[in-house]
Amino acid sequence: MRKPDLKKYEKLLLAKKKALLEEIAATMKAQVSTTIKDSTGDISSYSYHMADLGTDAMERELAFMFASKSGRLVYHIDEALQRIEKGTYGKCIKCGKPISAARLQAVPHARMCIECKSAEEGHKSGR
Ligand SMILES: [Zn+2]
Repeated sequence: MRKPDLKKYEKLLLAKKKALLEEIAATMKAQVSTTIKDSTGDISSYSYHMADLGTDAMERELAFMFASKSGRLVYHIDEALQRIEKGTYGKCIKCGKPISAARLQAVPHARMCIECKSAEEGHKSGR
């Protein structure tokens, strides 16, 4: 994929992530007394601190984050950003073929081409 295209998708992903994190922060603020203010912030010192008090609160927050649709999306977006850095972005992780621009435009964090994705979903629902 060409560099200007990568930049474009990176921007899309970052904007999406920011919106999601704000949404999650707002939800958490409403639900729990302590919040992780910034996912890129100093989580390690946070968890170190929490180790003294037990990790319950931290685990609850993480569980909440990943239990929510937005939390999982943030995870996938982070993965996509890593793939941009590694230079593997835009390639299907299953068959290695390029993912169509239309699909990336709609789902910038897509890991698989539409064929592999629908094959996987078919497999799952077939159980
Ligand atoms: Zn594929």
